[in-house]
Amino acid sequence: MIRVFDAHCDALSKLWEERDLDFYRENERLQVSFPEMEKGNVSIQVLACYVPSTIPFGRRYHAVLEMLDLFYEKVAGEKLLPIQSRNDLEQCVLKNRKGAILFVEGAHALEESLVQLRTWHRLGVRGMTLTWNHRNAVADGCHEPNPSGLSLFGRKVVEEMNRLGMIIDVSHIAEPGFWDTLELSAAPVIASHSNVKRLCDHPRNLTDEQMKALFAKGGVMGLTFVDFFVTSEKRKVWIDDLLRHLDHVCSLGGVDHVGFGSDFDGITETFGDLTRAGDYSVLAEALLKHYKEAEVKKFMHENWLRVFQNVLQ
Ligand SMILES: [Zn+2]
Repeated sequence: MIRVFDAHCDALSKLWEERDLDFYRENERLQVSFPEMEKGNVSIQVLACYVPSTIPFGRRYHAVLEMLDLFYEKVAGEKLLPIQSRNDLEQCVLKNRKGAILFVEGAHALEESLVQLRTWHRLGVRGMTLTWNHRNAVADGCHEPNPSGLSLFGRKVVEEMNRLGMIIDVSHIAEPGFWDTLELSAAPVIASHSNVKRLCDHPRNLTDEQMKALFAKGGVMGLTFVDFFVTSEKRKVWIDDLLRHLDHVCSLGGVDHVGFGSDFDGITETFGDLTRAGDYSVLAEALLKHYKEAEVKKFMHENWLRVFQNVLQ
């Protein structure tokens, strides 16, 4: 069975919101749990700390601290190793262990402080999505009208993330900020959970020009299982629909620059045949029908491994 590296899920945020859930026990409400990771052969999972925008300024940074505490108290351990360095990542792969990488989704939780960014980093956070859907001190999200690019503070954040070896994630950012980040970042950047705009015209998806530029910089995009980022038709979505996105990414030269970022536990509606992490086995079977095994391995984990090994220190 092919190993899976999933570059985005909100399981940690869900565990923080619904304290009765146990990551090590199967539960209908949890799309990514340890038993589901085992079923789907998910080896490496990025766990994003997403702070809902309803949490007021002054409480957001602390909410991330609570999620990080929850991770070390209830999630990380012998069965799921915290991955904080290139060496941790390599050891995980060599020893066939499972690991998790901590991200923060949206710099609104950063509350405008580089000290706080460095503190997160010291606590093990290794990537950040620069924005969620709205404006923050770093840049504007994709749902802002008349969006601007990176602010002066945003430029400092990008440079500091480069210096610390943190992964810069441009999913959710509005186009001006996307282009500023690509121009400024010394390291490849990723779009952890975004699909193809040409096939589904949604502000969260990427244009062909954006994808080509991301690939040229050595970055990787993660196709995501959010049904309304796959088609704008009001109907049930299936893996076959997502394969059209994958085909298009490959036609732009993306065979070495595409993976998956499920957004599990951040979505309520799912594909008909892809509802939780355990279903990665169904996705693997579908991919093997259409692609060579060597390509499927790239999509399932190798492309993410390469870019994370490149950026982490
Ligand atoms: Zn998201």
